[in-house]
Amino acid sequence: MPALPRLARSQPLPAIEEGYSVTASLPDFDPQTHLTQLQEGCHTLGIALDPRQLAQFELYYRELTEWNEKFNLTAITDYREVQIKHFLDCIVALPLIAEQLGEPLPLARPLHLLDVGAGAGFPGIPLKIVAPNLKVTLMDGTGKKVLFLGETVAKLGLSDVEVVQGRAEEMGNSAAYRANFDVVTARAVAALNTLVEYLLPFVRRGGLAVIYKGAGAPQEFTEARKAIELLGGETIRLAPVQVPFLEEQRFVLLIKKQHLTPERFPRGQGLPRKKPLS
Ligand code: SAM
Repeated sequence: MPALPRLARSQPLPAIEEGYSVTASLPDFDPQTHLTQLQEGCHTLGIALDPRQLAQFELYYRELTEWNEKFNLTAITDYREVQIKHFLDCIVALPLIAEQLGEPLPLARPLHLLDVGAGAGFPGIPLKIVAPNLKVTLMDGTGKKVLFLGETVAKLGLSDVEVVQGRAEEMGNSAAYRANFDVVTARAVAALNTLVEYLLPFVRRGGLAVIYKGAGAPQEFTEARKAIELLGGETIRLAPVQVPFLEEQRFVLLIKKQHLTPERFPRGQGLPRKKPLS
């Protein structure tokens, strides 16, 4: 097996103490009065959250805003806005993923999901909280994000989550990661024609790339069509989605991996970004 790329570094996660309870660490948290947008929004999407999952979201919000004072993780910090523009915006793709994979909500099989450019954990962490059977790898190129992710995953008591520092265009050539994932996600990472070269090498044959995009998605899709094909993908759906409580237009693009990605992709030297496939 070839050595891992230079930048790849798997973050050793802080140990979760035995008996650690997320709920117990939030004595002031009341699900009757907290996270109302998240709860209502999930209900609209056909997803029920139990008290432990709600406590995990609450703790995630608190960690995010606390770390944000030191590190710039997100511009969205308002309690209501985080529930809508981060949590629900990420969860909205889950029914589409389940439908495409022939799975019940919230996913019964322990599918392996990779989130590329996870940043502060979006969409990987909300998807993991809602669908606890998932096995999740969170990947980001930036050390401080990886540090935040490792600490947060441990604090939330999430099992089967790996946090790895590395750049997609390098990690995609590593045997440990290439063609190894059932689902590969990305939100707000790069233009679509660049992003497909980052994501598709990681997807196993028959698996899915799930890409979150805003109003410009149809135009970006037109420009990325050929690249998707060249990389072994076949577009299943470019679905307009309604994020509960959000007026802005959002899209989720689902690409199925039909053929193995040719070995020359992803290209090195920043080419996916500097010279996107066309
Ligand atoms: N996905 C998160 C979200 O939706 O909030 C983070 C979005 S943030 C704008 C983009 C993130 O992608 C950053 O954390 C950055 O470090 C990471 N990133 C960008 N290009 C990358 C690459 N080629 N490989 C790995 N991470 C990358």
